[in-house]
Amino acid sequence: MTGSQPLRVAVVGSGPAGFYAAGQLLAAGLPVEVDLIERLPTPWGLVRLGVAPDHPNIKVVSRVFEKIAAQPGFRFLGNVEVGRDLAHAELEDLYDAVVYACGAQTDRRLGIPGEDLQGSWPATAFVAWYNGHPDFQGLRFDLSCERAVVIGNGNVAVDVARMLALSEQELAATDTTDAAIAAILGSGIREILVLGRRGAAQAAFTTPELKELGELADADVAVDPAQLASGPGVEVVSGDATAERTLEVLREYATRPPARRRRTLRLRFETSPVAIRGNGRIEAIEVVRNELVGDGRGSVRAVPTGERETIPCGIVFRSVGYRGVPIDGVPFDEERGTIRNRDGRVLDGAGEPLAGVYCAGWIKRGPSGVIGTNKKCATETVELLLEDARAGTLGRRGDAGHVDALLAGRGIRVVGYEGWQAIDRAERALGEKRGRPRVKLVTWEELLQTAFQAG
Ligand code: FAD
Repeated sequence: MTGSQPLRVAVVGSGPAGFYAAGQLLAAGLPVEVDLIERLPTPWGLVRLGVAPDHPNIKVVSRVFEKIAAQPGFRFLGNVEVGRDLAHAELEDLYDAVVYACGAQTDRRLGIPGEDLQGSWPATAFVAWYNGHPDFQGLRFDLSCERAVVIGNGNVAVDVARMLALSEQELAATDTTDAAIAAILGSGIREILVLGRRGAAQAAFTTPELKELGELADADVAVDPAQLASGPGVEVVSGDATAERTLEVLREYATRPPARRRRTLRLRFETSPVAIRGNGRIEAIEVVRNELVGDGRGSVRAVPTGERETIPCGIVFRSVGYRGVPIDGVPFDEERGTIRNRDGRVLDGAGEPLAGVYCAGWIKRGPSGVIGTNKKCATETVELLLEDARAGTLGRRGDAGHVDALLAGRGIRVVGYEGWQAIDRAERALGEKRGRPRVKLVTWEELLQTAFQAG
């Protein structure tokens, strides 16, 4: 920022962290221009493509983002991938500062034999598929088997289990893709088994999500009362109200007589997968019972016993966490799966801040927290960026106007905000005809065609 020149910032990724960062920059009381660069033709990140379609009230947060997008100084540059269409070094040249808010684009692995057998899926892929992510529409999930296993005890695992169990009526009110609706309704699955490594008191899912499992039209929820009887798995650290409520809900589930609904959603704790078995494709999962060992300070570790069991199943969803993907030239912490940073300032190999380079959201902290957590996170990052701007350590490097010429020269057609609005209108109109909130456009071709018709 020099003289009356605006501060020009590129924010990479248009999920919650990117939008909150853009909003904080535009509200800073300085002349600021923000280019929000997004690889997809559509904004909102996981709010559009992660949050479960039967949770439309959560997706309403996009209205906050729409207000940010309407502010002067904001531009959306969709269909532009950093690392492919634009290099990090080019962003450094073109902008005063760059904020990476590109989320966690891949999954963590279990590291067990058979993990890549046909029918063993990362939850990331299934979630992206039923939400209409254009990179995942070619996948085919074979749901003809009787038992599906979901590995993990977070909210994403609960989302996947619930989506597999939704009834026609429950799906009708959502923007789940047509292909996913057809597959779920036509599925032969009778049992959805959710496995947690540690005990019920240590499960990461939150109470409202757990309660929803007990309210499904077409599925009974089942928990073995013996799993809730005693031991570290049901010991609540004093003051942990969430764990108290979780146990309360689970105890009620354990005493419920089954209503003989079409499917059963079974929650099982203190169990880890050790191998996925099958000849060419999944036939069973081998699991081990864990013993839980407390450290006396509330932390509980799962230690495998020798007690193993083979459970027949036809499909497995591995939901043990998302992970960031490195971008060429941006320092990456392989162990954490995040950009190397301190409070959002990106650090070089010597642990020193890289002038003008920042990060926010899941690529900064790892895949945890709700949408609102990213607001606090992005605010912290932007405060440091503004502090550096005031201290003059950003330096003026280039002119963001040049980015348009650079992209045009490479034959990249940018989807602007009006392009996204055209997609949004088209999807809502399709939805209206069919009594649904929207019917998503799910291929790159139809998304781009609709976006460019607007221009
Ligand atoms: P993201 O939302 O992932 O956004 C990152 C964006 O960056 C994406 O649009 C991506 O396309 C783009 N991008 C990536 N790489 C590049 C690149 N190289 N160039 C340009 N663009 C790029 N939270 C709740 O509060 N309630 C819920 O119900 C809820 N449900 C969830 C369900 C699932 C399945 C998941 C995975 C998460 C859920 N969350 C929920 C958490 C919430 O979605 C996250 O906290 C939040 O989306 C993280 O924001 P982010 O901006 O860091 O990343």
